[in-house]
Amino acid sequence: MSKTLEISPNALISKKVLDRYLALELPANKVMATYIWLDGPALNIRSKDRALDFVPKSVNELPIWTAGHGEGDGTTSEWYLHPVKIYRDPFRQGNHILVLCETYSGDGKPSVKNRRNKCAEIAAKCAAEEPWFGIEQEYAFLDFDGHPLGWSKNGCPDRQGVENYCGVGAKKVYGRDVVEAHTRACLYAGIKLAGTNAGGMPAQWEYQIGPCPDVTVADDLWVARFLLYRIAEDFGIVVTFDPNPMEGEWFSSGAHCNVSTKSTRAKGGITAIHTAIDKLSKRHDKHIKAYDPKGGKDNERRLVAGCATSSIHDFSAGVSNRSASIRIPKTVADNGCGYFEDRRPSSNCDPYAVVSVILSTICLNE
Ligand code: ADP
Ligand code: MN
Ligand code: MN
Repeated sequence: MSKTLEISPNALISKKVLDRYLALELPANKVMATYIWLDGPALNIRSKDRALDFVPKSVNELPIWTAGHGEGDGTTSEWYLHPVKIYRDPFRQGNHILVLCETYSGDGKPSVKNRRNKCAEIAAKCAAEEPWFGIEQEYAFLDFDGHPLGWSKNGCPDRQGVENYCGVGAKKVYGRDVVEAHTRACLYAGIKLAGTNAGGMPAQWEYQIGPCPDVTVADDLWVARFLLYRIAEDFGIVVTFDPNPMEGEWFSSGAHCNVSTKSTRAKGGITAIHTAIDKLSKRHDKHIKAYDPKGGKDNERRLVAGCATSSIHDFSAGVSNRSASIRIPKTVADNGCGYFEDRRPSSNCDPYAVVSVILSTICLNE
């Protein structure tokens, strides 16, 4: 049996050689479009590249494409990729683009994995309430062997927790170069990145998207995930969105979802926040089912009371409470209006599903 590689081959390839070819000039009308779509049971991100002979002015000018998806009996295993949003390409730059796509089956219906379409339908019914979302994406870096980046192979760092959270210094945080590159790439691409910070476990990090409307926050979160995978690929580092990357007492990863509406943001909006929390309290199980790709199974490994998480079984809410399902930030309680934070979504959630169920509950009373 061959030994598992401990270093990604990507880390060993000279980027200087690549630069010689990237310096080749292309004809002015040539545009590379990277089509991005979501696939597979864990909602894997996939992409493929297409050379266009024109500089597109809007997403409507982009051709529909197809991709195999390996489902069914093989006779109908193709999806149509419908371009829905253009981002600037931080890798090739210039006129080159990233193209976020929705997937459709042959009969013209959204594919079973296409939750964006459903999310847009729900959001349209709630438009008068002008909902905004901000999602905090936690994740961890791993070495090629699956162990957290920089951890000794048979052990673990000295500590975790308050000392590492938002930490600085070589002993507290690992992999900041990738975070910095990702931040820059997100902003270049046109993603509404709100910020980043180090997580509670060395090699764990977080970026935030928002505040922005429903479908937009989810689009940006997905494309930011794509960029993170792609940039870490350059560095030869593995990214995991697993909600519990290290068994034991280590910090887990979530995707806290911050929510506001016209009513919660208005003067005295704290009343509307309490109304929303009351509705959420009555639909805890429905939300848990939507907050990870395995209908709650993934979150079972993460939502154990302690380490700044609530229990998966109970609903709770509180001001400044980081061990509750819902937290009202201190500034919001002080101002009497603003937003609330749902801390339950798992780091590997589908943000379209999260946004959809929150809107159904708080705006549509479903
Ligand atoms: P935490 O204190 O939980 O770590 P962060 O600062 O990491 O919070 O993230 C807060 C998130 O809340 C950001 O994504 C931000 O965009 C979002 N946010 C701020 N104001 C609002 C609002 N009015 N509605 C929705 N989201 C908001
Ligand atoms: Mn945060
Ligand atoms: Mn948070």
